Amino acid sequence: MRRAQYFQDTFHQFESKAHFDNCDFDDAESYLTELMDGVRLHAEEALAAKAKGDTAGVDVAVKAAFFSIGQALHGTQDFYAHTNYVELTASKASRIDSIELIKPWTKSGRDRIAALRAQGLISGYVFWGVPQQCLSGGISHAKLAKDSQDTDSGKIALPNLQNLSQYKVAVFLARETSLKLLEDVYKKWPILKEVSGENAFFDVLIDRRSIETSSRS
Ligand SMILES: [Zn+2]
Repeated sequence: MRRAQYFQDTFHQFESKAHFDNCDFDDAESYLTELMDGVRLHAEEALAAKAKGDTAGVDVAVKAAFFSIGQALHGTQDFYAHTNYVELTASKASRIDSIELIKPWTKSGRDRIAALRAQGLISGYVFWGVPQQCLSGGISHAKLAKDSQDTDSGKIALPNLQNLSQYKVAVFLARETSLKLLEDVYKKWPILKEVSGENAFFDVLIDRRSIETSSRS
């Protein structure tokens, strides 16, 4: 699962949809739906293999399911890091845990994103990503990104939240939403939990693309 999370920043680094970049919300949402369809497919394969007593088959199918889950977690977390959702909500929140979690892999999450877009939700402009859906004059990815404590947006402290940085808020929301995604997946397909055990490890907000790109140039 963690390998899949990193895979998104290398193999899929130029695709806006994998990272909620370039205001490409529609494609990011359909991509997450595809990934969750993949999870369902692999979970069903695992169940079929289990019914035949094919333990090796169960293992292969469950690993494939977790790869798709890792890819979906990546996009889900990037929503907070690469859009202005934190800017729109955190400065008005009285507590960090009162900020609404957005689940873009669900119908209700996609409806919320549509409503938020009407209220000014955008993501950052990345010159190397395609397609480009932001209106011209939009804000750059570098300015909006909250993948680290050191970015312009990441380091902004919020007095209403005990001076937590916007980066910390994005990490909190990304972690909480990741847990919701895993809960949803385990509830739908208990076989995944059965095989993987009680503990799942995932990383939060990992954008290695700038590193990957600069090491090549
Ligand atoms: Zn990303």
